[in-house]
Amino acid sequence: MSPAQARRLKPGDTIGILGGGQLGRMLAMAAARLGLKAHIFSPDQHSPAFDVAAKHTIAAFDDEAALAHFAQEVDVVTYEFENVPARTAAVLAEHGPVRPGPEALAASQDRLVEKNFVTSLGIETAPFAAVDDAGALAAAVGRIGRPAILKTRRFGYDGKGQIAIREGTDLARAFDSLGGVPTILEGLVNFTKEVSVVAARGIDGEFKAYDVCENHHVNHILSTSHAPARISSECAAEAIACAKKIADALDYVGIIGVEMFVCEGTGKNGAPVQTIKVNEIAPRVHNSGHWTLGGAVTSQFEQHVRAIAGWPLGATTRHGATVEMRNLIGDEADAWREILAEPGACLHLYGKAQARPGRKMGHVTRILPRED
Ligand code: AMP
Repeated sequence: MSPAQARRLKPGDTIGILGGGQLGRMLAMAAARLGLKAHIFSPDQHSPAFDVAAKHTIAAFDDEAALAHFAQEVDVVTYEFENVPARTAAVLAEHGPVRPGPEALAASQDRLVEKNFVTSLGIETAPFAAVDDAGALAAAVGRIGRPAILKTRRFGYDGKGQIAIREGTDLARAFDSLGGVPTILEGLVNFTKEVSVVAARGIDGEFKAYDVCENHHVNHILSTSHAPARISSECAAEAIACAKKIADALDYVGIIGVEMFVCEGTGKNGAPVQTIKVNEIAPRVHNSGHWTLGGAVTSQFEQHVRAIAGWPLGATTRHGATVEMRNLIGDEADAWREILAEPGACLHLYGKAQARPGRKMGHVTRILPRED
């Protein structure tokens, strides 16, 4: 690693953040608490993160002159979304550290690359097959069976870029409906819970995970997370071990979110066991980690800042017996007055002007007291 790539920050230094949404905003606020400055790079002039950052640049992610100028003004670059173009990351990496690094972006931008990477580590995923045309879809369905889910390999989020393949689904039409782009067919996992591990890895390989949390989606969008997940301690340990294996293999720096399915099975002695299958890797702070903001000793935002600054990681200890995080989506944020009046509720609003349906406008955490 070159000296520039191994750089550690000091208070007063500046972190550069690609993306100006709520994740960038909460990262910038965490950085400020630690005496660091944030410089946000976003093409959107209405980015909510601009309100809380020392500096911002409005430019496209392929504007190489703007990227080079930005890189010279910051001491480390990080990002709040995984679809940072590889070329953007490469241009920035010529000037200084980009954390997490390019391996993490490559492994998480393409669902096929991601699944091949995860299974190469001996970690289970849904059964999958690459599908580049309608003919390949018929063959893949022959192998994996129905029901299954066809997903675009790139740029899918919140259930977008996916179609269910059920008995009777017309395969050619299903493939065309996703735009004829490269896709992946996944067998439908018969899970009982969706959980995620949010964890941090420092530049020296130090690894700290938060409690595994349990996630509930409504209309494919995360609605609530609860920590800790109601799963066996063995299953929680397995989930965290998988996240560590993934982070170590990527020589990862920062917060990583790993989404998983929990399946019920039977062990060798006939006793029930819970096993996990990895669904998705997010190389960034994760919505299911928002409960840590006020719900844990160190929030995921502060932890990410510590990690990318090359600083010691903080304690991930949870406050209270359980913590609930509820996203405020669309007009749900209109209830802000009632939430503020509720004792113990902790409200976060993202400063977005328009409450469109499906848009994440804020979140609220509720910390339930320790039972001991
Ligand atoms: P994704 O965009 O891959 O995170 O998928 C969005 C949601 O669809 C997940 O949170 C699951 O609820 C569901 N889902 C995705 N893939 C599968 C699968 N292979 N089996 C069962 N459910 C899935």
